[in-house]
Amino acid sequence: MDCLMAEMPFANADSRDEFGITSTFEIYLKKKTKKTTGRKTEEDSQTKKKKQDRPNYFISIPITNPKITTGIQAVQDTLVQKDHRLSQAMVHHGSLHVTLLIMHLSSEEEVGIAVGAFLESKAAVEELLQGKHLDLSFQGIDHFKNEVVFVDFASSDHIATLMEIAETMKKIFQKKGLLAGENRALKPHLTFMKLSKSPKLRKQVKRIDPKLYENFKSHCFGDETLYRLDLCSMLKKKQPNGYYHCESSITVGEKNGAEPDDAELVNLSKRLVENAVLKAVQQYLEETQNKNRQADGSPVKTEEAASENKNENDSDIRK
Ligand code: AMP
Repeated sequence: MDCLMAEMPFANADSRDEFGITSTFEIYLKKKTKKTTGRKTEEDSQTKKKKQDRPNYFISIPITNPKITTGIQAVQDTLVQKDHRLSQAMVHHGSLHVTLLIMHLSSEEEVGIAVGAFLESKAAVEELLQGKHLDLSFQGIDHFKNEVVFVDFASSDHIATLMEIAETMKKIFQKKGLLAGENRALKPHLTFMKLSKSPKLRKQVKRIDPKLYENFKSHCFGDETLYRLDLCSMLKKKQPNGYYHCESSITVGEKNGAEPDDAELVNLSKRLVENAVLKAVQQYLEETQNKNRQADGSPVKTEEAASENKNENDSDIRK
């Protein structure tokens, strides 16, 4: 699980502010202490609750321009040559992205609501873009606390538009009652290296020395035209190309009008069918349970009920 968490964007510090969440490492330490003392303290149950609220979905701008991805790979290779241990900190070129918004979705039902909010936000994003396309220009390298190293945005008006898009989407998600956003101001960035990817490395390397990448301090990596936004899961299995599992995608910018394209409609109908199936299964289970109850409320011993009990016990053993 810790390895999975390490794969997450915002795997450490970001979770604290908005969600009041401790880092993976702290949670790991607490878990360890609990195991050794065997005592269930109030602190433990608080940690458990906080862990449940940890961000698990995010809105991503995928980086698809090969000039940028190969440029970043070249930097990564250079850094690994200088310090082999850092290979564990590198972000796979297939999952390079800019995070616009993080959120916690606690059930598949909430994922469905988030997909609705996401699709709804397309019109608002189009309005902000005013029929123009948005070129995101990447230049130079910077870091957060020497633990996360990223390619920076070349200063331009386009960052302001990007921030407006993020803020607008956040409001749309929050209006739906979803736990989206964080307290600190958004600093758009393109992470290519972070110590949190490997808890083992984190123990060995406390900070990534900026001298390692000083030769690329003002390197121009290229432009990415904002064309697609994805609602991604941090925890679900990644795609074979290394990119995150997408619940939904929208395309924006001058290539498209406000009309949703085929991919979006397919996504939406897939989600609607999934929700309908879930509801039908739930209803069937409730009806079966009711049927199995006698008038006095005690369960009827049918063959079906007996077999259900057996299956439940089997899954208890599997846990
Ligand atoms: P991401 O690029 O979304 O994968 O985020 C990589 C890491 O950057 C996360 O684990 C965060 O802890 C960190 N991070 C993101 N934004 C900030 C920020 N404004 N200040 C400090 N750390 C940040």
